Amino acid sequence: MAYYVDVHTHLTHPEFQDDTQAVIERAEKKGLRAIVVNGLEPQSNRQILKLSKQYPIVKAALGIYPIEAVNEILPPDFKLPLQRFSVRQEIDFIADLARAGELIAIGECGMDGYHLDPHTFPRQEEVFIALLSIAQKNDIPVIVHSRKCETRILEILAHYKVRKANLHCYTGKIKAAVQASETYGWCFSIPANIARVQSFQLLAAKLPEESLLTETDAPYLSPQPGTRNEPAHVCQTIEQIAGLRGWQPDEAKEKVWKNYERLFMGKSASPP
Ligand SMILES: [Zn+2]
Repeated sequence: MAYYVDVHTHLTHPEFQDDTQAVIERAEKKGLRAIVVNGLEPQSNRQILKLSKQYPIVKAALGIYPIEAVNEILPPDFKLPLQRFSVRQEIDFIADLARAGELIAIGECGMDGYHLDPHTFPRQEEVFIALLSIAQKNDIPVIVHSRKCETRILEILAHYKVRKANLHCYTGKIKAAVQASETYGWCFSIPANIARVQSFQLLAAKLPEESLLTETDAPYLSPQPGTRNEPAHVCQTIEQIAGLRGWQPDEAKEKVWKNYERLFMGKSASPP
């Protein structure tokens, strides 16, 4: 059986505070069987653990967002709101839970060159590499944010010989993504705003089919500008991918579900 999957979402965002259950039920009704909720800092990481106990469809990925990863070196008047906490302690917390088999992946983690200046890059890398190593030690995938640091992220993943990686909302060069997929087998999740973002259409059309996954990054990146995104919207992404690849929607759904099973559940693909 094939199902829909959202491999990158933020159901712990305050925008879901009042109707988390309704959002999850709506996703289940649409045919989703996995919603990988990604953590960003201590608060969301702990909330995700609770959610995953409450709803079997919710799979826990804990991480530290690139901005939060450098919270200890950002000035008090930094332009964006952020949590202040000990990154070392949070890494240890995530490592313990990964070891206990509580996590399906490590994420969100990575690097950001859009909001952050290059002077933060060495520290961003350090935190990213520490989280990568937890994923590798426990043989679980890493879900990576790479905004405006795409080349460096691909270099790091290659350098550490990472086998299980999903790049979320990748906006770097298409050629580099295709090459990385072919060489290392990494996946790239296509967001729900694909209908209005040409670079995601190109990515979805050009990637090897074994590298395609679907995500929402909800509440962000909605298919309709100015509205709240939610996991159920991956169904529209599957239709878009099918259209671009000349597949039937069911075929696209099946391929993406298989990729999810292979990357996140460690199930090998059935022979052709
Ligand atoms: Zn995200």
